[in-house]
Amino acid sequence: MTTQPSGPVGASPAAYAPLQETSPTFVGMPKFPKAARAELANAQQRKNLRHATHTIRTKRGNVVREIDDWEALRVAGADLKDEALTHLGDYLEQLESSLTANGAVVHWARDAQEANRIVLDIVQSKHVDEVVKVKSMVTQEIELNEALEAAGINAWETDLAELIVQLGHDRPSHILVPAIHRNRSEIREIFLREMGQVGRPAPADLTDDPPRLAEAARLHLREKFLRAKVGISGANFAIADTGTLVVVESEGNGRMCLTLPETLISVVGIEKVLPTWEDLGPMLQLLPRSSTGERMNPYTTMWSGVHEGDGPQEVHVVLLDNGRSHVLGDRLGRQALRCIRCSACLNVCPVYERTGGHAYGSVYPGPIGAVLNPQLRGTASDIDKSLPYASSLCGACFDACPVRINIPELLVELRGTVVKNAGNTPESAAMKAAAWVLSDPKRLAVAQRAATTAGRLTGGKPLRSIPGLGAWTNARDVPSPPKESFRQWWARERGKGDGR
Ligand code: SF4
Repeated sequence: MTTQPSGPVGASPAAYAPLQETSPTFVGMPKFPKAARAELANAQQRKNLRHATHTIRTKRGNVVREIDDWEALRVAGADLKDEALTHLGDYLEQLESSLTANGAVVHWARDAQEANRIVLDIVQSKHVDEVVKVKSMVTQEIELNEALEAAGINAWETDLAELIVQLGHDRPSHILVPAIHRNRSEIREIFLREMGQVGRPAPADLTDDPPRLAEAARLHLREKFLRAKVGISGANFAIADTGTLVVVESEGNGRMCLTLPETLISVVGIEKVLPTWEDLGPMLQLLPRSSTGERMNPYTTMWSGVHEGDGPQEVHVVLLDNGRSHVLGDRLGRQALRCIRCSACLNVCPVYERTGGHAYGSVYPGPIGAVLNPQLRGTASDIDKSLPYASSLCGACFDACPVRINIPELLVELRGTVVKNAGNTPESAAMKAAAWVLSDPKRLAVAQRAATTAGRLTGGKPLRSIPGLGAWTNARDVPSPPKESFRQWWARERGKGDGR
């Protein structure tokens, strides 16, 4: 075992530097406000996103309301993830032992580079130039496809939405529905244009009917499943006591990836550990309801090492840290590691609904991306500094989260970290000045008199721009100060005091 989750408890993740390189795929992404402005101009995307998020949101609400004790279930989910995180080192060692006893080979990877190297070595040892993949956020996080491609190996995504993103030379925009920003006619065009370049072409008479699109994808992928010698996956859960990995999905393509190839490589973030088999019970109720609005997900595939004559005969599991130990070291921030990637927080977020996922500059978009990226990568880059502000702090994400991650609390904490690390800025100077004025009643009275004089001069009109505060006033008007302060009104109406 080369990696231990051993960040000093109580320290802020920002204290560690550098945590993790900003993804090469997203290098050059502007900070959130600029990227969001560009995305907001895409009216078609906004329409696609609104339709999709509202549909899933309604379905989720209906199935959650069916459960009388949903809140108790959320608490149970949060508690068992906390138990796993509190004793993560012990459970990881138990997981390693169980997997090894089951015939799997366990590898430990400190970071993306190490994980990619391990996977590449295994794939190259099989002398193949292609692999099939089940949708996996962690392999996107480490940019495994790009690493394989650089070595001349094609990694075929087999999840329908991932296939659309890959064929469209695009980036994922949602945790669960990576192609959420595309509508049916755009998907038809991508299939017609691209499928023939990398395998079986789409039928020439393809329409934008969902069953016809799904059929074209199925035929295209079937060829790849049947000839692939190596499959690559992530895992939704990793059970320590039995050494079982679990993938939940809707299409069955994942199950083909997990069972057909001779060799299976699973890359798993260390936070995916659950202590016991029984812990799966609450998780398999919370996850499908929160993600797709279903009572049960259609396919749950579990594998525990090698089984002679059945499924892959060589199984590798890469346990990945990549910044997670640092998050674990922060008592408040570690709750983000409870995340089961259900995407419920994205589907209720008013900011995500309008900007989509690309503006977050990572495979982790939406509210959870706004906290997880700066936690995993640190707040050194412009984009990671801006993400904690990509929220209205309305709290809808906390209400929706099945494992009770208090995302608004984490966002406020991260904003504090960003401000503290920024040192002296015009904003911090303004805040210090405000604190100085507000800490003394006499100073406050003088400031109020000055403000009411300004209010009389502007005639109650809103202020469109204030010199030095361009970042604020570019996006919003500042109300004009009132012509009379409350103190002045009190003195005039009640005749007591001097209105100061
Ligand atoms: S933060 Fe909560 S709601 Fe958002 S993806 Fe993770 S588990 Fe789901």
